[in-house]
Amino acid sequence: MKSRGFLHRTLYALAGLVAIGICAAAVALLWIDRRLTWESAYTAGHNLTGMLAADIGRTLLLYDLSLQGVVERLREPGIERIQGEALHRFLFDRSSSAEYLGAIAVLDENGNVRYASMDISPSERNFSDWDYFQVHRDADDVGMYVSRPYRSPLRGGDESIAISRRISRPDGSFAGVVVGSLRLAYFRDRFGTLSIGERDAITVFRNDGVVLVRNPYSLSDMGRELEFPQDFQQFLVRREGAFVGTLSRDSINRLHTFQRIENTPLVINVALAVDDILEPWVRRAVLVIPVTLALFLSVIAQIVLFRREMRLRRAFEAQLEKQARTDGLTGIPNRRTFDEALTREWQAARRDGHPLSLLFLDADRFKLYNDRYGHQEGDELLKAMASTLKKKARRPRDLAARYGGEEFVVLLPNTSRQRAIGIAETIRRAIADRQVPHQDNDSGIVTVSIGVATVVPKADQESSTLVEAADAAVYQAKKSGRNRVVAL
Ligand code: GH3
Ligand code: MG
Ligand code: MG
Repeated sequence: MKSRGFLHRTLYALAGLVAIGICAAAVALLWIDRRLTWESAYTAGHNLTGMLAADIGRTLLLYDLSLQGVVERLREPGIERIQGEALHRFLFDRSSSAEYLGAIAVLDENGNVRYASMDISPSERNFSDWDYFQVHRDADDVGMYVSRPYRSPLRGGDESIAISRRISRPDGSFAGVVVGSLRLAYFRDRFGTLSIGERDAITVFRNDGVVLVRNPYSLSDMGRELEFPQDFQQFLVRREGAFVGTLSRDSINRLHTFQRIENTPLVINVALAVDDILEPWVRRAVLVIPVTLALFLSVIAQIVLFRREMRLRRAFEAQLEKQARTDGLTGIPNRRTFDEALTREWQAARRDGHPLSLLFLDADRFKLYNDRYGHQEGDELLKAMASTLKKKARRPRDLAARYGGEEFVVLLPNTSRQRAIGIAETIRRAIADRQVPHQDNDSGIVTVSIGVATVVPKADQESSTLVEAADAAVYQAKKSGRNRVVAL
C-alpha cells in the first residue's frame, strides 16, 4: 500500500515535470528565437548603415576634394592674369561632373559670384544671405560644410544641398567660399535600390538634427529638424549605435541604427519597424503557443483523470477491505478482524503487563429456535444480539465480533476479571430482558451463555490460550444450566 502511494507520487511528479518541461522548452525556444530575430535585425541595420555611410562618405569626399582643389588653385600666384576659357579649365577641369553634382561656384567675400564651373553668367547674383556663406564668413574652422536642403534656382527647383569650403587669405581673413551642389536625388536613387520594408525608413541628417533626406521620401521632412528623444542625443556623440524608439511623427516603434558618415557632419539612420522585425517570430509563436498549451493541458488532463481513477479504485478497495473485515449478516467485525485484534492486544497486554479479558457468548438452544421459528427469525435474533454487544463494548479498544454461527466474542483490553464478569453479566441480562419468546428453551425466552477468561499474558504464552479458556468457560456454563456467566 505504502509503496503504491510512493509510485503514484512519483508518477505525478514525472507527469508534472513533463508538463513543466514542455512549457519551459517552448518558452526557451521562443525566447532564443526572439533574441536571434532581434540580433539579425541589428546586424541587418548595422550592415546597411555601414554600407551606406561608406558609400555616401566616398561620394562626398570626392566632391570635397574637388572643392579643395579649387581652393588650392585659387592660391596659385598669377591667377589674376589668366582669363576666360583658360581660367575656367584651370580652376574646374578636374572637378567631378557626375550626374548628381551641380555647378561649382567661387564667391568673393561679399557673396558675389567670381567664377562658376557652368554657364551661369557671373551675374548680379549675390549669395551673402545663404547659410553656408555666413557660416564660413563667421568661422574659419568649419572645414567642409553641408547646407540645409534647398530648391536650386539653377536647376529648375531641384532639391539639393550645398557643400562648401572657406577661402582664406594668407593672413587667415575671409576671402570667400567655394560651393558646389549635390542633388538630393542622389540619396533617393541610392536608397531606392535597397529593398527595405514599407514601414522601414532611412534618414540622412546633419549632426544638428536637420533632416537632409528621408526614405520613404516625404516633402514635409525636408529641412525639418528631428525632435530628439534624450537617448538619440547620445548617438550624435558616439560614432555609431542603436536604440529602439520613435523618432518620426508616425509614432511607429522602430529599431534605429546610427552611424556617422566619416569626415562629414552627417549621420545616417536606418530605422526598421519593430512590428515587421518581430512579425515572423510572432507567426512562429502563434504556432508554437497553442501546440504547447495543448500538450500541457493533455498532460494535466491525464494527471487529473489518473488521480480520479486512482481515487475511485482506492474507495472501491477500501470498501472491499471493509467488507472483508465485517460480518455480512450482523454488520459487526468478523472472525478475521477478531483474530488480528487478539494478536495485537495480546502483544500489548504482554508488553504492558495488563490483563486481557475475553467473553465467549453462545446462544442457548439456538438450533431449536431455528427449527421452531425459522432460520429467518434466527438471523434477526443474531442481528439483535450483535447490536446489544456493540452497545456494551464501549471503550475505544473494546471489540465485539461474530465468531461464527450463533457465537460471539467480546475482547476487552486492559480489563480485570472482575470487570469482565460484570460486563458479561450486563450483556446476559440485556438479552434476557428483551423477553424474546423461545418455547424450547428452559426459561421460555431467548438467553445466552457467556464464558469469561482473563489473562495477563506471559512471555511464552500463545493468544489461543485465552480463546480456549473462554471456550471452556462457556462449555461449563452450558453444562451447569445455561443462561449464565462462568469465569474460569
Ligand atoms: P446449545 O448451544 O444451547 O447447546 O444449543 P444449540 O442449539 O445452540 O447448539 P449448537 O451450537 O449445536 O447449534 C448451533 C445452531 O445455530 C445450529 C444452527 O442451526 C444455528 N445457526 C448457526 N449459524 C446460524 C445463522 O447464521 N443463522 C441462523 N438462523 N442460525 C444459525
Ligand atoms: Mg454453538
Ligand atoms: Mg448454542
